[in-house]
Amino acid sequence: MPEHTTSPSAPSSPTRRHHHIGGEQVEPASGAWFESHNPATRATLYLAARGDATDVDRAVRAARTAFEDPRWRDLSQTRRGHLLRRLGDLVAENADELAHTESLDNGKLLREMRGQLASLPEYYWYYAGLADKIQGDVIPTSDRTVLNYTMREPLGVVGAITPWNSPLTLTTSKLAPALCAGNTMVIKPSEHTSASVLRLAELVEEAGFPPGTVNVVTGFGAEAGQALVDHPDLAKISFTGSTGTGSRIAANVAARFLGSTLELGGKSPNIVFGDADVDNAAMGVVAGIFAAAGQTCIAGSRVFAHRSVYDELLEKVAARARTIKIGDPLDAATELGPLAFGDQRDKVAGYVDLGRSEGARVLTGGRASDGGGLGGYFYEPTVLVDVDNDMQVVREEIFGPVAAVMPFDHEDEVVALANDTEYGLAAGVWTRDLGRAHRMANRLDAGTIWVNTYRAMSPMSPRQGFKNSGVGVEHGQETIKEYTRLKSVWINTSSEPVADPFVMRS
Ligand code: NAD
Repeated sequence: MPEHTTSPSAPSSPTRRHHHIGGEQVEPASGAWFESHNPATRATLYLAARGDATDVDRAVRAARTAFEDPRWRDLSQTRRGHLLRRLGDLVAENADELAHTESLDNGKLLREMRGQLASLPEYYWYYAGLADKIQGDVIPTSDRTVLNYTMREPLGVVGAITPWNSPLTLTTSKLAPALCAGNTMVIKPSEHTSASVLRLAELVEEAGFPPGTVNVVTGFGAEAGQALVDHPDLAKISFTGSTGTGSRIAANVAARFLGSTLELGGKSPNIVFGDADVDNAAMGVVAGIFAAAGQTCIAGSRVFAHRSVYDELLEKVAARARTIKIGDPLDAATELGPLAFGDQRDKVAGYVDLGRSEGARVLTGGRASDGGGLGGYFYEPTVLVDVDNDMQVVREEIFGPVAAVMPFDHEDEVVALANDTEYGLAAGVWTRDLGRAHRMANRLDAGTIWVNTYRAMSPMSPRQGFKNSGVGVEHGQETIKEYTRLKSVWINTSSEPVADPFVMRS
């Protein structure tokens, strides 16, 4: 629930960011706004509209009207593709502004955001190319006079609920395929990071999508998010966020037989074998857990090192961790920005303290930082040792820059350890043995396996969380199925009278 709300008439208020509904900036029905902060400095950035069920209803109605509007419904698939291509172009043209906006809002490094923005247009271009390839099939029949074919149709209004750690990228993973398939959308971004998604919605209309095709209602999960999930006119929920929230949403929508795609949490293993290039593996471990201050679902937070390279790897990872430059995310030299908000920093600190009390030793890090005097929510890159797979700090998702490093002796042992988790999002393997690489890819219980790399991703490559890490596929051609429904059409072409009403032709 909100820490900072303000009355509608607060004097000298910062900029107000309205809901984006039906192509217009819309005031919150309740008149309430809430503050969004720069996590690097704690300065107030803007006021966001505090959405509730009334705002959500208005947005779903706008999306439903747009779905039925001939300007969208009857647009050819090729032209839908043109619009997506144009949207990708606009994202590219506005990359610097979008990167700055998100960097200020959630504390991501500007240089990481620039990297993300360099590839983000490709998601729109990829789905632009797929738009006119969505098609059904002609199905074989046993009677030549019967024609049976399938059609792939859009679902209707899709609700998207997204987290704060990568707002533009994670929204794009839903928006691009949903529009490609002809749906309309209502997006509820995280209460911590509304700004970049609101700007993206403006670009959607600038690209030529009819107003109402994409709507954004800002606000809190228990208010706006819950109202969106509960809305009766929704065709599907596409959610990215924590496993706890995802589980509640799944229970809710299952009772209504509503489709859902759920991208949830992780506690991914990053496994270094004795035959690995240890320098590269150390950099892969650092990238896996310290990039984005560990605030990624795919963070390689459980590191398993073969006993023959355990000391060497630890030394290299700890040495690099100690030299990571903490500070202003806008500064090109900075390597680690803040956690996205105060509670998240406190959660990370709490987990490290819990680890200590469980018997873990802090090899490096383990303290909050003020980011070189900026005063924001920083936490040092932290390496925990003397841990085992049963400790809470190893089993639960911390979502911060905290790696737990454990030795192992045998391949079978590390497979068992790596798979001994409720999650199954991703896994890293470092080895120069090709056979072992394939064996591990086969045996690890996770939707994405990286060998001698970590964090690679593309719009072309499907990704799916196994076990408690999710349901459904994002990216690639596969995800189109998540945003369409299949209709089977039977046509009797015979001019003969029906001979026997109790025997159907097929
Ligand atoms: P969260 O579950 O707290 O919130 C996610 C979104 O759900 C927010 O917009 C929030 O307002 C909304 N929400 C909260 N309660 C709700 C409710 N009752 N009904 C409807 N909506 C509700 O997650 P977070 O802390 O914002 O994000 C971090 C989590 O996201 C981590 O667990 C991380 O692993 C996960 N994540 C997963 C992926 C993936 O692709 N698998 C990617 C990024 C992040």
